[in-house]
Amino acid sequence: MKAAVLEAIDQPLVIRDVKCTDLKVGQVLVRNIVSGLCGAQLQEIHGFKNNAKFLPHLMGHEGCGIVEELGEGVSTVKIGDKVVMHWRVGSGIESDFPNYILNNKIISSGKVTTLSQYSIVSENRITSVPNDTPPEFCAILGCALSTALGIIDNETDLKFGESLAIIGCGGVGLNLLQAASLKNACPIIAVDKNQNKKNLCLQSDANIFLQNIEDYKDNKIDIIIDTTGIPEVISNSIDKLSDKGRLILVGQPAPGKFIEISNALNLFNGQGKIIKATQGGKTCPQNDIPRYIKLFNDGRLKVNHLFTHQFDIDEINKGFDVLRSGEAGRVIISTN
Ligand SMILES: [Zn+2]
Repeated sequence: MKAAVLEAIDQPLVIRDVKCTDLKVGQVLVRNIVSGLCGAQLQEIHGFKNNAKFLPHLMGHEGCGIVEELGEGVSTVKIGDKVVMHWRVGSGIESDFPNYILNNKIISSGKVTTLSQYSIVSENRITSVPNDTPPEFCAILGCALSTALGIIDNETDLKFGESLAIIGCGGVGLNLLQAASLKNACPIIAVDKNQNKKNLCLQSDANIFLQNIEDYKDNKIDIIIDTTGIPEVISNSIDKLSDKGRLILVGQPAPGKFIEISNALNLFNGQGKIIKATQGGKTCPQNDIPRYIKLFNDGRLKVNHLFTHQFDIDEINKGFDVLRSGEAGRVIISTN
């Protein structure tokens, strides 16, 4: 089967003929349909995820597929099920690391990968969904959408009418705007250095679009969520926090980087400001995915405008180029 393989740091992925090995206890063979590309994969390409020692390795952590084969002990999914493939741990067995054969050598992979025609995944990294659930929507339930909904629901302590800014409006950022709208943040400020993102942000329920957080002059902001991981952007955000402000870090600064806090005494103002790193929205796949599908089926989650680019797996590096350009909503890779 075809698989996109990261063979060397800072190099394009290579499409290789990779073979699956026999399933071990708690593993599931999934025929992949579509996957979303996430900023986390760009970090892996740069070797920022401590992953250089695992090369060559397979990639991807949000996808939709069909269950083809079950390893011993698997009980939460059955053959033929459509599944969301997610990186957060859900129900079922935590299996050993999957193995594949590349160039007659056995390689190991993460507990879930999605950027190949088939994937061996740990049972607890997939969740069954109704068969009529659209594949692209399923894919973003694996990371971008569920992370965003989880962050707003579980990690911001957002109160009705609090002001909120999202900095960096890529896949997760656009979903954060919509999640903030579901919880009645007011106003919802989208910040992205790319002016071309304005329409996508407004379609995702932003009230205001700015290219820099410093341009917001009206007031201080109650909740700021940074998805860029850029130290200077994060430092400027801290200055914009209200006295009860919470800054949530979603984007991860590169290893060895510092974040400066100017006039740090201000952190003691009011109720004490909070800076914290997200834990993937604390998503609990088996509980949250059914709730999110219900919202989608009821028309309360709009996702179609997010799928701005789609590529075949053979063109995956074009997909990463679009992701790097900052022009995309969510880049979808077809792995059929
Ligand atoms: Zn992700």
